[in-house]
Amino acid sequence: VEELGVFVFQKTRYFLLQSSTGRGLLAFDAGWPSSFAGYAKALKTTGHRIEEVRWALVSHFHLDHAGLVRDFQDRDIVCIVFEGQLGAIDGMEELVMRKYPDYRPIKRAELLPLRTSESRSFLEGLGIAAEIIPTPGHSEDSVSLVTDDHQVLIGDLYPPSQIMEDDAVSHRSWDRIRAMGGRRIYPSHAEVFELED
Ligand SMILES: [Zn+2]
Repeated sequence: VEELGVFVFQKTRYFLLQSSTGRGLLAFDAGWPSSFAGYAKALKTTGHRIEEVRWALVSHFHLDHAGLVRDFQDRDIVCIVFEGQLGAIDGMEELVMRKYPDYRPIKRAELLPLRTSESRSFLEGLGIAAEIIPTPGHSEDSVSLVTDDHQVLIGDLYPPSQIMEDDAVSHRSWDRIRAMGGRRIYPSHAEVFELED
């Protein structure tokens, strides 16, 4: 990946991946509901503008990660949904609509369905050398993005040191990240850290 853009907004880290072919940016996670203007302003600290974002995917459908998907769609940003994520949208939106009366639902028919197994070739087409893998644990629908230069965007997957012994699902997710060569780990709500063997 040419450059990883990182910015913090409302206690959450958001990420931008740049296409090596100059086609625009891929956003990893879409901010809280009703926060578009603030998200766009915070994004500017990376030296980019929201208008450069052409694609988006979310680590999982919780409101601090996927609350702006509809706002993105309204700005012609192509929003990707992975297998296992579609079923998580209802739960998020029920919660969001209780808290944010102005919330407009995601346009499901306009989501771009993608299998994680196809993510490498899809991202290659955008000029981004990375792969998406399922990493359930924090939620069933969680995915992580692993770049070919060993950076890993994990969303809310708990760090290895914080996982209970019997949480086999989360441990398997970390096994998968290790197998992919992940080294530099970017959590959404904590500082970056290096993954130990
Ligand atoms: Zn979450």
